[in-house]
Amino acid sequence: MSSTTASPPSSQVPASRRLIGLSDLRRLAGGRVPGQVVIQYTDRCNASCAQCGMRVENRFPRSTLRPEILWPQIEAMARRGVAAISFTGGEPLLCLKDIAPLARRARDAGIRHVRTGTNGYFFRDHERPDFAARMADLAKTLLTSGFNAFWISVDSADPDLHEKNRGLPGVIRGIAKALPILHDHGLFPAANLGINRLTGGHGAPVPHDPADPATFDAAAFTGHFRQAFRRFYAFVESLGFTTVNACYPMSAEETPPDSDHAPAAATVQAGEAVYAATSTDDFIRFTPPEKAALFSALYEVIPEFRGRLRIFTPRSSLLTLVRHYSGNTGNGHYPCRGGIDFFFMDAARGHIFPCGYRGGEDLGRFSDLDPAAIKTRPFCARCDWECFRDPSELFGPVMDLFSRPFSLARRFLSDPEYRRVWTADVRYALACDGCSAVVAPDMKKLARFGSPARPA
Ligand code: SF4
Ligand code: SF4
Repeated sequence: MSSTTASPPSSQVPASRRLIGLSDLRRLAGGRVPGQVVIQYTDRCNASCAQCGMRVENRFPRSTLRPEILWPQIEAMARRGVAAISFTGGEPLLCLKDIAPLARRARDAGIRHVRTGTNGYFFRDHERPDFAARMADLAKTLLTSGFNAFWISVDSADPDLHEKNRGLPGVIRGIAKALPILHDHGLFPAANLGINRLTGGHGAPVPHDPADPATFDAAAFTGHFRQAFRRFYAFVESLGFTTVNACYPMSAEETPPDSDHAPAAATVQAGEAVYAATSTDDFIRFTPPEKAALFSALYEVIPEFRGRLRIFTPRSSLLTLVRHYSGNTGNGHYPCRGGIDFFFMDAARGHIFPCGYRGGEDLGRFSDLDPAAIKTRPFCARCDWECFRDPSELFGPVMDLFSRPFSLARRFLSDPEYRRVWTADVRYALACDGCSAVVAPDMKKLARFGSPARPA
């Protein structure tokens, strides 16, 4: 394992790096969650992922924002108390020269969490003699710019499958070589899994035919994904990652689902999304019973690794997803804060949308948003986009604590599993320093959440 001495132990973490600040608590007490905006800086990309409409082979007019257009918007976000912005793509590192100074200015303006990531193309040329120097430069650029989250996509526990899907040969070896260098500079990237049928490697179960429910073996499907997630977590740990995130499958439907087999909520329709990180490909398309099974597998496997890896994914969110996709709506989820506290900005116009999927609701420039016109009652649960759904779920009980304490107490009393899991999620998130990329994992704190030994 690489040195972790470049970051301070979490007990000395400056307030600006902490997961939750006083201003966040004040906002939660007022019935709002800390705001975030996902900024699609560019839709250009150099990878060929099956799960994504922005893959390099797809022909459409590509767009990239410009710093002079974006900066006034970021200033407006800072003024309005947005706590987090993410620069996404396409491939954000193609625009590192633009987004690095924007990130610095955003941090200086008071935005506390600034994130970006990569498909990993930067790590391909690991045989070149200047590789170590380039990795050191990357770490310094990201750190001096104030980024405090940095993700690297990994699609499968099988390096060949990952590289084939991305069209980026050699990238996995490059990542393994880069991580110790990045760690030595105090940068701790997260492996970012977009859950797909090949997560665990070859041998994916045949897609379930919704027209023939009898053919679906939920226990076998769950068992397959249990092994897949185990293999995946062990794999990224072996590469040197200290932190892992899981993106829930974002399939778009080509036609409205058959009413007999539709999930309880509507789904994102192909062509509706403004963020083209969706696909109708079977690689990431799962039926509701399959989703119930795979979320259940992830829910079961996470505790096996929480003692050794910082895992973003809150189990309380998975619990509500399992219940939702199993048709158990007794104890509901917290609706999404998309369009209320969370927004998406597209690369083509620099406009704001409630999220990347409600493409019919163009809200114009962020600076033109009228706070009084925002309807603050959350309602949407049309997709499982974890960037928006997970924090909505995690912050829900905190807001209830301030505004509806008796209702929260009733829920916790009537649903002890949810209470236990949500409370553990909060304790775990604090122990992980919010999975910050600029704080080394505190293995002693993590060990309280599970065995540091490799599960059998
Ligand atoms: S998933 Fe990311 S890396 Fe892959 S094609 Fe889409 S934007 Fe590019
Ligand atoms: S659940 Fe959230 S992310 Fe999904 S469509 Fe609704 S507002 Fe958008």
